[in-house]
Amino acid sequence: MKAKLWGVRGSIPCPGPQTVKYGGNTLCLELSWGTEDEYSLIVDAGSGIRSLGNTWMKTRFPKGPIKTRIFFSHTHWDHILGFPFFTPIFIPTSEIEVFGPVTFEEDSLDLVIGGQLQYRYFPVTMAELSAQMTYHRLQETTMNLELGLNIRTKYLNHPITCLGYRFEHEGKVVVTLFDHEPYRNLFITDPSHPDFDREVFEEGEKAAEEENQKIQEFMHNADVVFHDAQYTEKEYRKNRTGWGHTSIETAINNAHRAGVKTLVLLHHDPERTDEEIDNFDRIYSPLVQKKSGMKLVFAQEGMVF
Ligand SMILES: [Zn+2]
Ligand SMILES: [Zn+2]
Repeated sequence: MKAKLWGVRGSIPCPGPQTVKYGGNTLCLELSWGTEDEYSLIVDAGSGIRSLGNTWMKTRFPKGPIKTRIFFSHTHWDHILGFPFFTPIFIPTSEIEVFGPVTFEEDSLDLVIGGQLQYRYFPVTMAELSAQMTYHRLQETTMNLELGLNIRTKYLNHPITCLGYRFEHEGKVVVTLFDHEPYRNLFITDPSHPDFDREVFEEGEKAAEEENQKIQEFMHNADVVFHDAQYTEKEYRKNRTGWGHTSIETAINNAHRAGVKTLVLLHHDPERTDEEIDNFDRIYSPLVQKKSGMKLVFAQEGMVF
């Protein structure tokens, strides 16, 4: 099983001289397996999927029709905006299955994803999408693909329905937690607050702890985990609580507790410069390796695991 990153950024693409090293494209991961990597799937269609599609048109298309599956973590902009630029969707022989969660009952996945292809947003409409496309709404579930590749999905903590994926193949495990914030007590936690209720507070603590435990189980003993780390702990605590993302420090602690072998931090904030990420890497990576044995990587576009 091989995982390649085509986009590692969160929120919005951010090209420019300060993001050359780590990359400015939003999230897109290619997973391939089989003796000649003949099977493949994609997790999320951030702007990174454009290059992936163009590469496949050169490498895979000459060998035969492109068949693949795109799994969406959720339908926030940064994870779907590359979809209309994925060239294989305009090739009649392509067969593409799209999977993902839908948050609102009145929506359907084809309208949320494909709905970007309408004249008010884009010069080509969904009707001109000539590939054979099928859409599947996904919830917490398990699936089995070719050659025994197993998939498990898990709801994450994000402002809309968001799924993590656990891929297992030939004893190796890859997990994606692209947009996720640790669960926390949603009740009043300040004992000096006039409405503070100790019993309710303790219930809230217990519920958050249980949910966080489930996330750790989901990552348990994974070989590679791709984990949201948009903020530093300081930024998170200052004014970004409830925005649906994790801090670098919390991601490291959680992955270590779950026995993860390699932790790949991504969904970098668009404001984060190469220099800043280099600094984090210099400080954290040797420290984490030394104290826990876990390999820590700050994701760069083009990296392969
Ligand atoms: Zn995101
Ligand atoms: Zn999101």
